[in-house]
Amino acid sequence: MAVVETRALTKVFKEGEVGAVNDVNLQTREGEFLVFLGPSGSGKTTLLRMIAGLEQPTRGEILIGGSVVNHLTPRERRIAMVFQSYALYPHLSVYKNIAFPLKAQGVKKELHRQKVEWAAELLGIERLLDRKPRQLSGGERQRVALARAIVREPTVFLLDEPLSNLDAKLRASAREELELFHKRIGTTTIYVTHDQVEAMAMGDRVMVLHQGYVRQIGTPTEVYDHPSDTFVATFLGSPPMNLLENGEAIVGFRPEHLQPVELVPQAATTFRLRVKNKEYLGAEWILYGIVSGGKFDGRELISRLGSAASHQTDQTYDFGVGEQDLHFFDRQTEKRTGAKVLAWR
Ligand code: ATP
Repeated sequence: MAVVETRALTKVFKEGEVGAVNDVNLQTREGEFLVFLGPSGSGKTTLLRMIAGLEQPTRGEILIGGSVVNHLTPRERRIAMVFQSYALYPHLSVYKNIAFPLKAQGVKKELHRQKVEWAAELLGIERLLDRKPRQLSGGERQRVALARAIVREPTVFLLDEPLSNLDAKLRASAREELELFHKRIGTTTIYVTHDQVEAMAMGDRVMVLHQGYVRQIGTPTEVYDHPSDTFVATFLGSPPMNLLENGEAIVGFRPEHLQPVELVPQAATTFRLRVKNKEYLGAEWILYGIVSGGKFDGRELISRLGSAASHQTDQTYDFGVGEQDLHFFDRQTEKRTGAKVLAWR
């Protein structure tokens, strides 16, 4: 039985307008870390808020632990939610912030200390219990918010971009901490982000949303290596997949698969590229090339090269892609097609 399930879940804010969330069918797996990934406005937060009970669905059902919960209040759903802004009570100590939900839940006072200490230890914030939120760093505040969420021993965690207020370095360490924390507690977790790197790094599975529709749900490897449509293909991966239209098909290949032709002995296709620009990123180069000659003359293609690459701007080089690295999509529907379009050039 799925911890969280949705059936044709839909939210239309204004009658006649397109839905913010459309017909979402979802089943979490026991203990998994599931990421909702999509650009701004794709419906991630609305979907999460409906699961939490903070937003009323227009249609469809939400089940938690196998029972329909549409009519239940957020508290009755036994869900813990951590938002972008941690919303700690500024005038209360860390201890009191963490204990707050226990009071609201009517847990006996004698048990408070035990539970708060358990949560604080799990998050490594035992020595901060007497401080006020303003005396904490961003990362520490996040841990307090998580501790406050886990004292309730929820059946599911909902996290809405909890790391977005942190700077890049802190974000990376907070991400790792959150992963370790999830491994320790093993509670099913849904995590919202628009950051594809974060999604790939953290998710057991990633659900890609676009305009309120689920485009794909799968492991990071599945969504990256077998994107179900051109949206997923270009949203995941930076720089994005190269796409070229060819008759009824769109052919795609990732920048790391467009390599100097001498490195691709059995290239299915080759391009002569004039280097327009290149960026050095330390461990790699990103090369922007313009196709010179042939059917795709003038189109820009992006290649990701090892740090030893020595291509010069305005020079021309031959690049190739292996057959196994080509993706084919239907030009009308933009969906992945099983059929390979042979002789596509
Ligand atoms: P972001 O990453 O920017 O937070 P999101 O993917 O979480 O975006 P939502 O906040 O779920 O997206 O919004 C989905 C759509 O619903 C957007 O078009 C938004 O404008 C609309 N929307 C959200 N809340 C409301 C509301 N209360 N009233 C009307 N429209 C809303």
